[in-house]
Amino acid sequence: MFRKGSKAYSIFNIKCPRCHESDMFETSSYSFSKPFDMKERCDKCNEDFFPEPGYYYGAMFLSYIFTAFFSIGFVLFFHWVLDWSTAASFGLLILVLGIFFVYIFRLARALYINIHVHYSPTAIEDGKERGSTASAAAHFGR
Ligand SMILES: [Zn+2]
Repeated sequence: MFRKGSKAYSIFNIKCPRCHESDMFETSSYSFSKPFDMKERCDKCNEDFFPEPGYYYGAMFLSYIFTAFFSIGFVLFFHWVLDWSTAASFGLLILVLGIFFVYIFRLARALYINIHVHYSPTAIEDGKERGSTASAAAHFGR
């Protein structure tokens, strides 16, 4: 399920949804440097990561829903199952969200683009052909 070629591989590793080779972001999710700087295009297959302005607006809702359910489950588990105090449960939640915040932000974007873009094993060869037209389009201010 998590092999290259599956949606889960692209989403959880934040890889290009078309070729599954290149990372969608410049830096590692845990480096905390340039956390939100996404590449405009895939380095390997030239897939456009910004097909339209405001494309990732919907990804915000995905990360909101995911974070809300995660937070409820997390606090309930520590408070009820492990019998931690409410303050300690929330304290740990804040720490965990602090560490995973960048990853969750990126995960939502990877999930979102994977709804529209599908894996292609020949993406890299196709991208080289598309490359010339894509850069021409960029030149003329698409
Ligand atoms: Zn690619």
